[in-house]
Amino acid sequence: MALVNGQFLKLSESYLFSEIAKKVNSFKVIHPEAKVIRLGIGDVTLPLPAVAIDALHKATDEMATAETFRGYGPEQGYRFLIDAIIKHDYEARGISLDPDEVFVSDGAKSDTGNIGDILSKDNRIAVTDPVYPVYVDTNVMGCRAGERRENGSWSNIVYIPCNAENGFVPELPTIRPDVIYLCLPNNPTGTALKKQELKKWVDYAIDNDILILFDAAYEAYIRENNVPHSIYEIKGAKRVAIEFKSFSKTAGFTGLRCGYTVVPKELKAFNFAGEKVGLNRLWNRRQCTKFNGAPYIVQRAAEALYSPEGRVQIKSMINYYMNNATLLRENLKSIGLSVFGGVNAPYIWIKAPNGLTSWKFFDRLLYERHIVGTPGVGFGPEGEGYLRLTAFGKLEDTKEAIERLTTWII
Ligand code: PLP
Repeated sequence: MALVNGQFLKLSESYLFSEIAKKVNSFKVIHPEAKVIRLGIGDVTLPLPAVAIDALHKATDEMATAETFRGYGPEQGYRFLIDAIIKHDYEARGISLDPDEVFVSDGAKSDTGNIGDILSKDNRIAVTDPVYPVYVDTNVMGCRAGERRENGSWSNIVYIPCNAENGFVPELPTIRPDVIYLCLPNNPTGTALKKQELKKWVDYAIDNDILILFDAAYEAYIRENNVPHSIYEIKGAKRVAIEFKSFSKTAGFTGLRCGYTVVPKELKAFNFAGEKVGLNRLWNRRQCTKFNGAPYIVQRAAEALYSPEGRVQIKSMINYYMNNATLLRENLKSIGLSVFGGVNAPYIWIKAPNGLTSWKFFDRLLYERHIVGTPGVGFGPEGEGYLRLTAFGKLEDTKEAIERLTTWII
């Protein structure tokens, strides 16, 4: 008799975004004529940069002849991409990395979800609350979460509240965890930490033998000075942190799929005998066993993003989305809504007016304004009473959404 992983049965019926899709589909059955503006799921709308398209064509042609055809590539990624990543994303910021510390993948969702494979189920996990749901759900699957409470939180997970009172800046937890997920700039609140603030976390991790899982998927959206683009800008971070990056939001690769994870060789955790073990070797072993590398043509497209033209094209894409963020942020503020984020991140975090719950605000936004947001409570208990809008829409849709919102009597 085959037994299922019972942990899956503890999870709520569907992933947050499937639940939203279901609600939107029901709305469209009743109102087929309505023009729905989707500012909910964080997918991008601009096409791929021209350099990526050119690289894809070229690499595809290489696949057509025996001399240049590529089959299985290195599980860790091709050197041409790894070298470009190190040169532009790290050396340019004064961080040195060896090529075998960078692992190219099919995106940050897979890596942040799979990293638990190399960690014992006995670790106590901490997350900021609200948080990207993948961290919690994958720890439920990996038997680290305990039991689900009525408010949707999990008994063995340490939640670090981020709310209007603390300006959405997480404070060091009172219960010491073994592993902490930090997502900066943050999805969903849009918060970024200054160097001094992030240093507090690195020092805390060093002093307490804690592993930081640092998700920097939105790093390219940082606009303010003194906000670190990599956790390794903080002294000592290589001893305590794994960093996840993605080309999805940086360059519109949500459909193409490419990202990378840095696991420094200095980084160690413990075995049950209390001896230190390098995580780089374990992650390499995991990837070689369960992953066969990102597609060659996709890695060529990612490499092209680092060319001088590629960098200009990415910048203009990010400016486009951040212009949307500024428009949303300023206009929603002007009608008296409490609005956060949108400065170093493409997310706008709105306090639901009149004490509405997240889902009530979501429903009213959908049915009265035909706009799709994401209910804040879907990101954790502290998200209750908030809603997230993304800046990844088309400019004209964002403007129309603003028009609909600013003329709304809530
Ligand atoms: N990490 C965070 C915080 C995200 O918000 C997302 C996507 O929305 C991801 C990772 C997933 O990135 P990828 O598309 O590279 O899997």
